[in-house]
Amino acid sequence: MLEVRDLSVNYGHFTALHAISLNVNPGEIVVMLGANGAGKSTLFRTLSGLQRASGGSAVWNGTPLTGGKPEYNVEHGVAQCPEGRLLFPELSVEKNLRLGAFVHRKDAAGTNKELERVYTLFPDLVQKRNAPAGSLSGGQQQMVAIARSLMARPQLLLLDEPSLGLAPMVVEQVFAAIQRVNEAGVSVLLAEQNAYAALDIAHRGYVMESGVLTLQGTQQELMTDDRVRSAYLGV
Ligand code: ATP
Repeated sequence: MLEVRDLSVNYGHFTALHAISLNVNPGEIVVMLGANGAGKSTLFRTLSGLQRASGGSAVWNGTPLTGGKPEYNVEHGVAQCPEGRLLFPELSVEKNLRLGAFVHRKDAAGTNKELERVYTLFPDLVQKRNAPAGSLSGGQQQMVAIARSLMARPQLLLLDEPSLGLAPMVVEQVFAAIQRVNEAGVSVLLAEQNAYAALDIAHRGYVMESGVLTLQGTQQELMTDDRVRSAYLGV
């Protein structure tokens, strides 16, 4: 389980996260809703070890994540799929996927097995395996980015804005894929501005505003909360 306690992050004199606390339980999809600049990416980067915490803790199954060593966090089961995908457009889909298995580079057989597992979860990628990643549609590139994170064999996947820039029908496919990943046993923390699609697949969620968690609840509680409905669901 992920346990974040009183986690703070500063950029110089600016505090981006103000002592936030949250949990992700095994098997859950937890959504983090929040407007642009609320601090979601800062949280994710901190949980990935890319950003130093200024205070508090974040622990995954007993492993502290705030040591500032991204590779250590990946080795201990936490992988991030970053906002904006960050694929290598000229490399083939399969080469991009294999790069995700970097921490398991000594286990070629395991990586080949994982590749086949990932293709089962994302069947559309099979026929594209030799195509340059940059030639795929936006939705397919997002699938490649998620699949690449899975190649690290995480137990917790941090997904930052997977629906960014995608058409509504494609968003649906990406979220269905996230649900399949979760059903395959991976816990998911999901940052999203597309509250509707995210709440649809989430078990629980939080709302972040200016680096503070202002609301939390189950999927049902958040879906029916007036503040969530007016601020994030446009109702
Ligand atoms: P977005 O969806 O736009 O990425 P976000 O909720 O992920 O938004 P963050 O990117 O975490 O928000 O940013 C939170 C706050 O911290 C913002 O006010 C942002 O301007 C600020 N911030 C982010 N990165 C830095 C940085 N490297 N230096 C200074 N301030 C930063």
